[in-house]
Amino acid sequence: MTPDFDLQRHNTLGLPARARFGATITQADELASLLSEAAARGLPFRVLGGGSNVVLRPVFDGVIGLMAIAGREILGRRGDHTLVRVGAGENWHRLVEWTIQHDLPGLENLAGIPGTVGAAPIQNIGAYGCELVERFESLVALDTEDNALKTFSRDDCDFSYRQSMFKRTPGRFIVVSVTLALPNAWRPNLGYPGLNTLASDTDARTIMQTVVTVRNRKLPDWRKLGNAGSFFHNPIVEADVADRLAADHPQAPRYPGADGRVKLSAAWLIERCGFKGHRLGSAGVSDQHALVVVNHGGATQQEISDLAGQIVSAVEARFGVRLVQEPELL
Ligand SMILES: Cc1cc2nc3c(=O)[nH]c(=O)nc-3n(C[C@H](O)[C@H](O)[C@H](O)COP(=O)(O)OP(=O)(O)OC[C@H]3O[C@@H](n4cnc5c(N)ncnc54)[C@H](O)[C@@H]3O)c2cc1C
Repeated sequence: MTPDFDLQRHNTLGLPARARFGATITQADELASLLSEAAARGLPFRVLGGGSNVVLRPVFDGVIGLMAIAGREILGRRGDHTLVRVGAGENWHRLVEWTIQHDLPGLENLAGIPGTVGAAPIQNIGAYGCELVERFESLVALDTEDNALKTFSRDDCDFSYRQSMFKRTPGRFIVVSVTLALPNAWRPNLGYPGLNTLASDTDARTIMQTVVTVRNRKLPDWRKLGNAGSFFHNPIVEADVADRLAADHPQAPRYPGADGRVKLSAAWLIERCGFKGHRLGSAGVSDQHALVVVNHGGATQQEISDLAGQIVSAVEARFGVRLVQEPELL
């Protein structure tokens, strides 16, 4: 373990942050000894992938394990699917490209999402009309309560919109590999805005490239302007709440949610409160996309959190809807 471990280049917001200790994990069997070292020092242990869905505090008084377990393996066909097992430290987008190169379509709508494969199930990543759950078979994770490697099926993971059993029990499970099930009889999923002008026989590679182009146009590049993608979930509210909002604001976007509920656009709510392009010190809201909180250079976790608090209060006061932050404060 390396003491006083610098995390600034390990989070896409680019916040200055350090951990008491840090280590890179390249194999699952390194985890048990790292965990016992952390326990012997009385320190908490957390894992970090690409740092693209966290707001890091200036100091994490514990041990950070940087997930770097590699490996991609085509396990073969099972029924209607081909199974692919991937190490948790693999880069998500490079995995998407690799599956397309191997003529295994199914992940193309999820192209361009930063971060690691191991983090993808944590919030059931989703984009352009597809969620990880639709391509998920199982994963292997270390349970930090008994240091045992366990296999989790799709049902065990209890996935929903940007949610999973793992997100509800932060830090307990460390994902070491993920097995995906890619459809043998693939059909393009072109229902989402940005893709719905493509021809119905568009191939997966073109869809992947289109998704990346649209994403690059809509979202600021975190390498140039630090950010963590969408900073708030799209709120899912009861139908009567959505109807009241629609009565006052008929133009407010709404989408069908699960169980008769309605998904609202967090970006629309934030923009209507005048936050697009707003700044608080070195933190700000992107002028490209109201859902993206950015670091203009030198922002601290406190500034980011204060700005997020202002947004939550303003949206709740104006629309009666409480936004939930997506990146974890770690
Ligand atoms: C520009 C941009 C665009 C984005 N677009 C999308 C999008 O379209 N859709 C979407 O869903 N998300 C999006 N995100 C969010 C983010 O990329 C995803 O949530 C991604 O899966 C996070 O991966 P990571 O490796 O960076 O996770 P990290 O930020 O490192 O970690 C996130 C959480 O997962 C935990 N974790 C990480 N690895 C493991 C592991 N191996 N085992 C157990 N826990 C782990 C961490 O402890 C932390 O709680 C975007 C982010 C950015 C910066």
